[in-house]
Order: sequence, then C-alpha cells, then structure tokens
Amino acid sequence: MNFQLSEEQLAVRDAAREFAQSELLPGVIERDSEAKFPKAQLEKMGQLGFLGMMVDPRYNGGGMDTVSYAIAMEELSKIDASASVAMSVNNSLVCWGLEKYGTEAQKQKYLTRLASGEVLGAFCLSEPEAGSDATSQRTTAEKSGDHFIINGVKNWITNGSSASIYLVFAQTDPQKGHKGISVFIVERDWEGFVVGKKEDKLGIRGSDTHSLIFTDVKVPMENRIGEDGFGFTYAMETLNGGRIGIASQALGIAAGAYEFALAYSKERKTFGKPICEHQAIQFKLADMATQIEAARLLVYKAAWLKDQGEDYAHASAMAKLYASEVAMNVTIEAVQIHGGYGYVKEYHVERLMRDAKITQIYEGTSEIQRIIISRKILK
Ligand SMILES: Cc1cc2nc3c(=O)[nH]c(=O)nc-3n(C[C@H](O)[C@H](O)[C@H](O)COP(=O)(O)OP(=O)(O)OC[C@H]3O[C@@H](n4cnc5c(N)ncnc54)[C@H](O)[C@@H]3O)c2cc1C
Repeated sequence: MNFQLSEEQLAVRDAAREFAQSELLPGVIERDSEAKFPKAQLEKMGQLGFLGMMVDPRYNGGGMDTVSYAIAMEELSKIDASASVAMSVNNSLVCWGLEKYGTEAQKQKYLTRLASGEVLGAFCLSEPEAGSDATSQRTTAEKSGDHFIINGVKNWITNGSSASIYLVFAQTDPQKGHKGISVFIVERDWEGFVVGKKEDKLGIRGSDTHSLIFTDVKVPMENRIGEDGFGFTYAMETLNGGRIGIASQALGIAAGAYEFALAYSKERKTFGKPICEHQAIQFKLADMATQIEAARLLVYKAAWLKDQGEDYAHASAMAKLYASEVAMNVTIEAVQIHGGYGYVKEYHVERLMRDAKITQIYEGTSEIQRIIISRKILK
C-alpha cells in the first residue's frame, strides 16, 4: 500500500490549486449572487486540460488517471463548485462514456472537441418524473428511415444552456422497460431542440441548470451510442464513475470550508485570545479535519480501483455518500466557527454550505447510494 501521490499527481494538485486561487476566487461571490455561469473560467480550464483529463491524448485528452482527476476536482471545488460541476459532467458523464462506447467516427467528431474544451457536453437522463427512478423515461426516440425522432422533456440538466453536445436518453421500445432505453448524441443547433427555463437554485448558482425540450428532433442513426436498448446500462456505468467526480467535489467543498475556518480561527480574537485557542473550536477543527481525511481516502480508493480496472461501483457509492455528508457537516461547522461573519457572503463559507447540499442529491441521492451499498453487502 502506497499513500504517496506521484510527481504527476502532485503537479496536477499544484496547477489546480494555483488556478483556483488566481482564476476562480476573483468574482466567485458575484457569480454566485448573480447566478452567472463561469464561462471565461471554463474556457481557461479547457485550455489547461481540465475538461478531458482522463481521455486518451489521441482524442485531445490528458491521458491521466482517475486519482489525478479527483485531486483536480477537490482543489477547484474548494473555491468554485459551480465551475467544478461543469468540469465533472464533461469529464465523467460525457467524455468517459463516449470514449468507452462510442464509435471511432463519434470520437473523432465529438470527443476530440469535448476533451480539448472547445465545446462543453451535457448528460440528459433526468426528467420531470424520472430522477431516482431513471427507468421511467418518457422521452421517446422513434425509428424513421435512417433517423430517430426524439420527443420529450429533460429536467435539471447541468451545462443546459452552455453545452453544444448533449447525450440524450430516450425510450426506443417502451414495451421493454429499461431494456428499451437508448442513448443519442444531439447537437445544440438541431431543429426542434429548445433550451428551457433556467433553475434558480440554493447553491452551485453559477452552474446553469436547465430543462430541455425536444420536439421531433431528427437524430441520425449513427448518433446512437452502442446498440439499441443499451442506454440504461450506459447511464448506470457512467454514473458509477461520475460519483467519483461528485465525491471529489464534496470533498473539495468540505476542505475549502475547513481551510477558511482554520485561517479565520487564528485571526479572530475573543476573550483576549484567538478563537482557535478555545477548546470548543479546536475540537470542531479536529473533527472536521478527521472527517475530511476519511472522505479523501474513500475517494482515492474508488478512483484507484477504477484505474486498476477493478469493480468500483460500491466504492464510488460509499465515497459519494460519505463525502457529501462530510461536506454538509463541515460547512455547517465552518459557518459556526465564523460566527456572524459566517452568515454573510463575504467570508465564502455560507456559499460553500449552500453548495454542499447538492452533493447529497445529484448523480443519485444519499438514499440511492445506500441502496447501492446495501445491495452489495447483502449479495
Ligand atoms: C442542480 C442539479 C443538477 C442536476 N444535473 C443533472 C444532469 O446534468 N443530468 C441529469 O440527468 N440529472 C441531473 N440532475 C437530476 C438529479 O440527478 C435528480 O434530481 C436526482 O437523481 C433525484 O431525482 P428527483 O429530483 O426526481 O428526486 P426523487 O427521485 O423524486 O426523490 C425524492 C426523494 O425520495 C427519495 N427516494 C426516491 N426513491 C427512493 C427509494 N427507492 N428508496 C428510498 N428513497 C427514495 C430520494 O432519495 C429523495 O430524497 C440534477 C439535479 C439538480 C438539482
């Protein structure tokens, strides 16, 4: 067992940390207040290789391991979880599946542009009545000659208005239930595709979350990924990896809040001494640091298993479940350590507390993670 990060992983950590401080920190409070997508920041992240980190360099990716990706996600999420969720969706939910299951033509046409950050991707599974129960897809894709015709509505789609390429799940054969779901690549400017309303959210307010409406959208046959009926398996496999990204995001939110709280506790004085000299604050910091370290080990283990080609489904569920709960606990304590200052925007921790909540909801709620874990335990 080796707990040491490699030279390459350390370099990724330093680059991400530097980028977060120099490019994400300025304006992050305003972007949150105004619900403004970090467009310029995402463009720079693409140029630095953060948007296709694990993709083979043949398709313009960074060819890195999943541990490096988790490290970068943690560092960027310490400051801006809205930028990091856009990165996570592009890397794990869009590029990963396209590289694994796409045809060579699909990779040349789409993956090369997604991995380089030239364009952003979106993953369109959820619907108004299909969230945790993703099998209840109402969006349909009917075969018509050498095309499919897609009709339906998708909900809560991250990168909804910023993406150019959308992976859309639809029912090709409703009789077959979840075995009749397929997945298609849809381009932004195709006729019949409309970006719907933007959600006004509690946290990750810079992330653009939209509904999407598909009315008779004509999708060429060659834009289906995998065989007919492969969509649900594709979604579940992709989400297993996606959860490593979200677990890293949760870890970063927790670590960011902890770092702000630690620094503040050394500056703020009450009763004639810095508050970090009060044992009540010390114990909070000790608990926060311990929970963060435990979450980090779960995240790294899930990422490592994936890199080894081992089964990582339950490990990524455990990492996401635990890290998201740590993100909630730690951010609440970080606000508490800041006292009244924690309750205002200027000190960052209230934003991180609001951002933390989503990590318990998307890419499978905490309840769904517990179902995945208990199924494995009871198997
Ligand atoms: C900001 C944001 C961004 C998102 N981005 C995307 C995206 O890019 N792409 C995408 O496809 N989706 C996205 N989602 C959707 C997200 O994945 C779903 O919201 C999530 O899976 C939960 O589904 P739901 O909202 O329909 O809740 P529901 O499934 O209705 O769940 C409601 C409650 O019931 C619980 N519950 C449900 N079933 C069970 C069960 N069997 N046992 C125990 N408890 C259960 C849930 O845990 C939850 O507490 C996003 C959501 C948000 C809010």
